[in-house]
Amino acid sequence: MVGSITLAIIKPKAVELGHTGAIVHTINAAGFCIRGLKMMRMTRELAEEFYAVHKKSDFFNGLVEFMTSGPIVVVSITAENAVVSFRNTIGATDPKMAASDTIRAKFGTSMQMNAIHGSDSDKNAIRETNLLFAPEEIFDQKRS
Ligand code: UDP
Ligand code: MG
Repeated sequence: MVGSITLAIIKPKAVELGHTGAIVHTINAAGFCIRGLKMMRMTRELAEEFYAVHKKSDFFNGLVEFMTSGPIVVVSITAENAVVSFRNTIGATDPKMAASDTIRAKFGTSMQMNAIHGSDSDKNAIRETNLLFAPEEIFDQKRS
């Protein structure tokens, strides 16, 4: 593995709108390496655990409802300083506030449906990756 890891989720609305390919391309073009990628649908239990930190927020129920509403694409990513540099690539939580060249600005449709998730710390990147990927679904490669 080169550098550190982070976890991305292409959220249901972005998948539904057909943005998966463009977003995966953007991730690679921005210099991140993909070490795991799959389409899946979150159960309510998994979504509640994934977003447990937000359990007391007023947006929690709507967020869980949305994240379980259709298929998502989960991507395990590695790069130097992966968490911070990926957060810069996706942009602010509200797509309207995100810098124009970011994934959320380009593909997000609302605060909730902001196209993509990115881990907020190294600790959460590992926790989230372990929640969504089995060890045999991860492929660390030497840089050629
Ligand atoms: N969210 C929402 N309403 C809000 C704030 C957040 O629906 O007022 C959703 C949004 O999809 C966001 C997710 O909850 O990506 C997690 O919120 P967080 O504050 O952790 O933002 P992020 O780390 O994703 O930028
Ligand atoms: Mg967050």
